[in-house]
Amino acid sequence: MAGELVLVVFVWAIVAFAVAIDASRRGRHGGFWAVLTFVTGLFGAIVYGVVVLVTDDPVDEEAAAEPKPESERVRVCPTCSSKHDDAQNYCGECGAELGPEDERPVGRRLRTGSRRYCSNCKSEIGREAGTCPSCGAVF
Ligand SMILES: [Zn+2]
Ligand SMILES: [Zn+2]
Repeated sequence: MAGELVLVVFVWAIVAFAVAIDASRRGRHGGFWAVLTFVTGLFGAIVYGVVVLVTDDPVDEEAAAEPKPESERVRVCPTCSSKHDDAQNYCGECGAELGPEDERPVGRRLRTGSRRYCSNCKSEIGREAGTCPSCGAVF
């Protein structure tokens, strides 16, 4: 009899352990579900299964891992080409009026071998280009 009891408790513990692992993988209280399953046996495991099926929301991990960075913009003076990254209404260099129409995306010069590319639109640009001729991005 004692041997059978040990076996039952052993199997019980394995079920509780499996529930705990699964629960914590899903971001739930593994300990709580393990105790519930261990105390109530199969009933706890069934309750757990129903709760998970009803309430589990599959998390889109890819979307969560890669938040889209808002593309930076600067205002470029049409008169003297100086850059203002805090949306100024007047050029700090020459006093020319700046507006939303002077806003340009901020890009980087990407380098592949001897060529340079605009990080914003991926078109090829000159080696020393300060702006992208295709999309107007400022480097
Ligand atoms: Zn200016
Ligand atoms: Zn570009």
